Amino acid sequence: MQASIIGAGVAGLTCALELAERGVAVEVLERAASLGAGSCSWFAGGMLAPWCERESSDPLIARLGAESLTWWRERFAATVVNGTLVVAQPRDAAELVQFGRRTAHFEPVGRDAIAALEPDLAGRFERGLYFAQEGHLDPRAALTALAERLEALGVRIRFGVEATAGNMPAGSMLVDCTGLAAAARLHDLRGVKGEMLLLRSKELALSRPVRVLHPRLPLYVVPRAQGHFMVGATMIESDEGAYISARSMLELLSAAYALHPCLGEAQIVEIGTGVRAAFPDNLPRLRREGRTLYVNGLYRHGFLLAPALARRAADMMLHGSQFPEVMGKQPSTEVEGRAISPAAAF
Ligand SMILES: Cc1cc2nc3c(=O)[nH]c(=O)nc-3n(C[C@H](O)[C@H](O)[C@H](O)COP(=O)(O)OP(=O)(O)OC[C@H]3O[C@@H](n4cnc5c(N)ncnc54)[C@H](O)[C@@H]3O)c2cc1C
Repeated sequence: MQASIIGAGVAGLTCALELAERGVAVEVLERAASLGAGSCSWFAGGMLAPWCERESSDPLIARLGAESLTWWRERFAATVVNGTLVVAQPRDAAELVQFGRRTAHFEPVGRDAIAALEPDLAGRFERGLYFAQEGHLDPRAALTALAERLEALGVRIRFGVEATAGNMPAGSMLVDCTGLAAAARLHDLRGVKGEMLLLRSKELALSRPVRVLHPRLPLYVVPRAQGHFMVGATMIESDEGAYISARSMLELLSAAYALHPCLGEAQIVEIGTGVRAAFPDNLPRLRREGRTLYVNGLYRHGFLLAPALARRAADMMLHGSQFPEVMGKQPSTEVEGRAISPAAAF
């Protein structure tokens, strides 16, 4: 069997690897000139937090996410499993109680335990929740490592190739992992803009992602190599990812400052925006249309879910397996009264 994967974001690369590892002849087509350019995946925080995400998502996300965490540890050595620390200012203590009610697999921590976990946060927070089994990774390093693994397996990533209905190889299965670009064919996809900052500070060291709860603006800080910190992320119902608003910039910087004032002196290394693709229920889908399998709707969970979806995509393609929890209505020929034209599919 031959498969062409369209899109070299996290969905495309995990699908490509899962198929290549099972002996399928795979190629990846990516319209951008280089890895990450133009993809939502480049701007992700890289939190692998199945149990924290339970706070605002379906139990399916936690189940698929826990499975993916193992996949990442087996294939990307720099996956860190140091847990997630969730904190709130004393005036937002009710948020912590709510968060605890909606989630599982954590232990409540007090001032001393917080200081033991994150010495630089000593004395800054009275109470928190510690999700010890969660992980994180640097998305850019992870995408690069996946691309290297694919290359070692003989898979070519063809950059600068815009996949269209007219230029797809005959006889090959197509796996469409084009994120929001697929909204032209999957009409119930929408965009959820996310804005982020990359800061650098020599004054702060963190060993794990820290989420700072707030009634209006729950934000997080994820440590990366060499004193870098990803601060994220806004959630704005919009397909437009061209710029960061002044308000979002203020809010992200305020959250960073609330975590530790030394971040007020940090260097702003990068300001980024990505647009997450989401279906109306914010759950991912594998949808089959003719010879195309769409892997999409990863919403705010792309790194958390992509490996589990890639496994299921490969099982569907190779063994005809069915996964009702991620397949939704099959095939989706009409969405909200608008037909998907077969000619529009690859
Ligand atoms: C600020 C922010 C923070 C986030 N934090 C996290 C997090 O901590 N943890 C987590 O799990 N998720 C997180 N996410 C979500 C995650 O980034 C997305 O769910 C994920 O990146 C979606 O990946 P994808 O491969 O589906 O899409 P994309 O990464 O957008 O990849 C699609 C690719 O397809 C290519 N393409 C499109 N059309 C064509 C075509 N016709 N031909 C060829 N190529 C094409 C594009 O160029 C692109 O490279 C975050 C997102 C944002 C914006």
